[in-house]
Amino acid sequence: MRDQIYIDGRYVASASGEMFDVIDPSNREVFHRVPAGNAEDIDRAVRAARRAFDAGPWPRMSGVERAAVLRKMGDEIAARISEIARIEVQDNGKPLPEAVWDIEDTAGVFHYYADLAERFDQEAEQKVELGMEGFSSKAVKEPVGVAGAIIPWNFPLLMAAWKVAPALAAGCTVVLKPSELTPVSALELGGIAERAGLPAGCLNIITGFGSDAGAPLTEHPLVDKLAFTGSVPTGSRIMAMAAKDIKTLSLELGGKSPLVIFADTPIEDAVEWILFGIFWNQGEVCSATSRVLIEERAFEALMERLVAEAQKIRIGHGLEDGVLLGPLVSPVQHEKVLNWIETGKKEARLVTGGGVPPGLEGGCYVEPTIFADVPEEATIWTEEIFGPVVCVKTFRTEEEAIRLANNTRFGLAAAVMSDDLDRANRVARAFRAGIVWINCSQPTFTEAPWGGYKQSGLGRELGEWGLNNYLEVKQVTTWDRHRPW
Ligand code: NAD
Repeated sequence: MRDQIYIDGRYVASASGEMFDVIDPSNREVFHRVPAGNAEDIDRAVRAARRAFDAGPWPRMSGVERAAVLRKMGDEIAARISEIARIEVQDNGKPLPEAVWDIEDTAGVFHYYADLAERFDQEAEQKVELGMEGFSSKAVKEPVGVAGAIIPWNFPLLMAAWKVAPALAAGCTVVLKPSELTPVSALELGGIAERAGLPAGCLNIITGFGSDAGAPLTEHPLVDKLAFTGSVPTGSRIMAMAAKDIKTLSLELGGKSPLVIFADTPIEDAVEWILFGIFWNQGEVCSATSRVLIEERAFEALMERLVAEAQKIRIGHGLEDGVLLGPLVSPVQHEKVLNWIETGKKEARLVTGGGVPPGLEGGCYVEPTIFADVPEEATIWTEEIFGPVVCVKTFRTEEEAIRLANNTRFGLAAAVMSDDLDRANRVARAFRAGIVWINCSQPTFTEAPWGGYKQSGLGRELGEWGLNNYLEVKQVTTWDRHRPW
């Protein structure tokens, strides 16, 4: 495991020499220490990225050449899935099979953007039809410059890949600031990039806290674009800081996503997707379907099965066989979620869970928790809890379901289940959310756009939209001086 930051193609100590503890949430013990990067480290990293962008080969290479490097990065990640997945389990707490998915996806994201980088050679220039003779025009896509990427802790390396891979594919250079709670896997990316042949300065990685490293990156005048994933309050702060010098910005923020279940949904399917929608990754998922709306006449039977299945979920250390729910990421997050549950007990009816599982008091574990009869104004219905806690409510009509689903300041994701696909599609259209699932919840594909409406964010990641995040469009218009106008 690396214990140095990565600047200008080299692992180095931080300017202050200060380090901070990284905690294993299964036992609350320190398992590693990494540098506490500060404004000086960020400045060195941004200047290296600036030099690499302004004078280095990377933005001037063809897409095919950039693709070769990205593909090698993906190959090394794919070859080290088991090793890196184990780092994620120790750092984040998630069960090993889920960490393996993450790292498989991470490799896939690098491979996907390698393909888009190759296509970029053909697609970077587009002819623009003009309504006047004597002039010709084209739109040329170019890398936006130095990108600052700030990421959260719930999918540590995958969230890094969602930003680093498209930014590099576009020809940008990057300064990455991982979450202070899960900084370990991101540090591996430096060596991976180097071995793949990425020129020095194109990727820099600074571990550290939000106020000490994230804020200086956000405010640095030599950064052209900021890509942030995290909470709404931090996103809002970053937007205000970026406004000072009009940096290009993309934000992927929180959610309180609804899952609407009509009575014609087979009960096993409904149970499966409710459980996966909220308990996958301990519910620490921005798109988690944490508000479940069940058609009233299906409620009793569905709840009975749901509670029985939730109680069977095996909780434990992420490396144990058969474990489906690991510890939450940190003691602070653990306490926050337990506090939400205490609030919930006053606001609604606790159906199952609600505590620390017996025997697992040494780690940051929380039982799968279900609240029912949750009033619309209850804070557990309106606020993001970011843990294994789901709120259930009933509805009578399609209109009521849509109104309840959309009555939120968030708009990241929404899901609907029904055997009637016309109805499901009608509801899908009515949702005010950036990601909509029909008859499932959570499957995420590298090729498809990802991002939120309303306070859930700005812009889209993944797919070709993710690449466009790191591109400027330049108009080039030529007058044919041999023709009068
Ligand atoms: P957070 O906002 O606390 O932190 C995110 C990152 O921002 C961290 O790296 C942190 O160090 C940094 N940061 C904190 N203060 C900063 C500042 N003043 N300036 C610059 N950087 C600063 O969020 P979190 O707790 O790490 O992550 C959980 C949140 O992320 C949830 O709200 C979740 O919904 C959201 N999330 C969204 C998506 C999405 O795709 N929409 C994906 C994952 C997580």
